[in-house]
Amino acid sequence: MNWSLVTIRQGPTTSLAVRREHGSLLAPTELKRWSSMLELLDDWDTARPTLQTLDIESAPTAVADEILTPISWPRKIVCAGVNYRKHIREMGGEVPGDSWVPFFFLKPPTTTLIGPTDPIVIRNTETSRYDWEAELAVVIGRGGRDIAVGDALAHVAGYCVSNDVTARGHHRRAKDDVPADAFPYDWFGSKAVDGSLPLGPGITPDFLVPDPQDLRLRLWVNDELQQDESTADMICTVSELISAASRITTLEPGDVIPTGTPSGVGAGRGLFLRAGDVVRTSIDGLGEITNPVIEA
Ligand code: MG
Repeated sequence: MNWSLVTIRQGPTTSLAVRREHGSLLAPTELKRWSSMLELLDDWDTARPTLQTLDIESAPTAVADEILTPISWPRKIVCAGVNYRKHIREMGGEVPGDSWVPFFFLKPPTTTLIGPTDPIVIRNTETSRYDWEAELAVVIGRGGRDIAVGDALAHVAGYCVSNDVTARGHHRRAKDDVPADAFPYDWFGSKAVDGSLPLGPGITPDFLVPDPQDLRLRLWVNDELQQDESTADMICTVSELISAASRITTLEPGDVIPTGTPSGVGAGRGLFLRAGDVVRTSIDGLGEITNPVIEA
């Protein structure tokens, strides 16, 4: 039985708990030594063996009003740019060769991260054209810089389901607003929007995920399946992404790395999110997040 570490709210109090795959919540006493997920992740070398020996079966039941976003707040959210073969093709491109080096962009942690059931708030729907991007998100446990590909998975604390909501309409700047060919894109306008990273339901520890390149991602809008792909379609593996990101920035405990989205985004078919939609994103073994879309 898989489980994940969640942050729950009961009244005014937040605490850590275990969420079993089918949804029940437990409060093993061992988790009380950390007051927050970030504190646990900062103490990962102690936390990991503690989690590995948790006696889930005999843990007391936890009661929660709400499951919150797992980490409040990571120091960085480093998102991989295009990283799935079929997604490149649907966006009109060619799959790159072996020399491909991944690229990244940032999302502001405190304002983009929302919980597994929080609403996605959209503004100016017609011009912003909000799109969905189901993604496997990696959470760093042990920080580092210039991490070798072969060592990268040892830096992972666990994995989450995420949706890299994108204001597609703001990604490419209007021709008249591009003063030189070097400035065609607005990554901030399209990716840094408030509430644009639903994450959860919890962090499934690395030792419960035998192969991050063998996970099935799916995303539904109003129960209509839009994305359905295995992480095996990634161009750069989780290990390669961690290594590449760590050559640019020092990775720290709690950093979140969404690893790119597979094919099936709305952009390729002229679809985008509207108020009243419900977006459900799942990764087999990690769980599911469900976010209604509302207009600001
Ligand atoms: Mg993305």
